[in-house]
Amino acid sequence: MATEYNAINLSQGFPNFPVDEKLTDIVAELAKEDVHQYTPMAGYPPLLTKIAALVNDSYQRTAQTETEILVTTGATQGIFTSIQALVENEDEVIILDPCYDSYEAPVLLCNAKPVRVSLNDDYTPNWKTIEAACTSKTKMIIINNPHNPTGKILTKTDFEALEKILEKFPKIILLSDEVYEYITFEQKHISVHTRKLLRNRAIVVSSFGKTFHITGWKVGYLVAPEHLMKEIKKVHQFLVFSVNSVAQAAISNYLDIVSVDEIGDFYQEKRDYFRQLLSKSRFKLLPCEGTYFQVVSYAAISNENDVDFCKRLITEHGVAAIPISNFYENGKDLHLIRFCFAKDNATLEEAARRLCKI
Ligand code: PMP
Ligand code: GLN
Repeated sequence: MATEYNAINLSQGFPNFPVDEKLTDIVAELAKEDVHQYTPMAGYPPLLTKIAALVNDSYQRTAQTETEILVTTGATQGIFTSIQALVENEDEVIILDPCYDSYEAPVLLCNAKPVRVSLNDDYTPNWKTIEAACTSKTKMIIINNPHNPTGKILTKTDFEALEKILEKFPKIILLSDEVYEYITFEQKHISVHTRKLLRNRAIVVSSFGKTFHITGWKVGYLVAPEHLMKEIKKVHQFLVFSVNSVAQAAISNYLDIVSVDEIGDFYQEKRDYFRQLLSKSRFKLLPCEGTYFQVVSYAAISNENDVDFCKRLITEHGVAAIPISNFYENGKDLHLIRFCFAKDNATLEEAARRLCKI
C-alpha cells in the first residue's frame, strides 16, 4: 500500500540512507577478483575468521570457525534452518507473544506445536509463565533480544531466570535471535554469547543486513555448539548449500575497516530525533531501548482497529506503519503501531510533519 499510495514508508524495517561508500567501493573492486564461485558450505573462510574475531571482540567468546559458525542467507534462513533441523513432529516450541513473524511458520512446518507465552504488559518476559509452559515435549525456546517490534531488551535478571529454567529442563535448546545486537541505546546489549550456561545449548542468530544497513544483501550467520551445528548443516546443505560469494567476500573485507561500536549511537540519534519530532503529535510514544522501531499508541486519536488505522494513515495521511496486532498470535489490538526510524532525517521530518497534523 505504501507504494500504491506513494506514502512515506516507515513500515517494513529497512534503512533508506546510502550504504557506506567504503563498502560499495569494496564490491566494485571485488567484482574483478576470483570470488564468483561457490564458497565452502559453512561460509567464505576469511569471513568465518572475521566473524569469529567479531564475536570474540564483542562478547569474549571463542567460536570455532570450522564447526561452530555458519553463514546464512540472512537471519531468516538461519532461523528456518535451525528450526527445521532441530524440531520434530509433535515437539513444542515456546515463542513469546508478541514476536517477529519468522518463528511460528517453520515450527508449524515441522508439524510441531508453537506454544505462545504472553510477555508482560511492559513487554518484559514473564519467566514464571514461561517455566509453567515448559513440558517434557518442549524442544526449544525462542527469544528475540533486542525485541522486534517492542524495542525491549533483556536484562541480567532475565538471563538468570532463563538459566534456572534451562537447568531444570536439560533437553531444551535456546534459539536467540539477536539481529539488532548492535542497535541498543542507554543499556548495553547482553548476548547469549556471554552466558556460558546458555551458549552451550543455544543457537545465536545475527544479521549483517541490520548491522551494516544492507538488508537486501541477505547475509547473516549462526553461532552454535558443534553438536547443534552438525544438525543445522544437514538442512543448510540442501536448502542453500552456500551463500552469495561476492557478498560474503565484500563483508569480509569490510570487517577489516569498519567498527560496530558506533551503530548504537547512530541509531540513538535517529530515535531521539524522531521522538522529539513526534512529541508535538497526539501519538503516545512507548519506550524504545533497542532496534530501529518506535511503537506508538494512537488511542488518543482514533478508536479504529490498528489495521484500519494503518490503512487510513496511508490513504489519508501518506505515512505507512505496521499494526502491532500482526505480531500477536491472536491479533490482539491495543491501538499500537510500529514506525521504522532507520531513515534519513528529511524522511523522518516529512513523516513527522504529516503525523503531527492528525
Ligand atoms: N529477526 C528479526 C527480529 C528481524 O527483525 C529480522 C528482520 N528482517 C530478521 C530476523 C531477519 O533478518 P534478515 O533480513 O537477515 O533475514
Ligand atoms: N524485519 C523486518 C521488519 O520487521 C522486515 C523483513 C521482512 O519484511 N521480512 O520490518
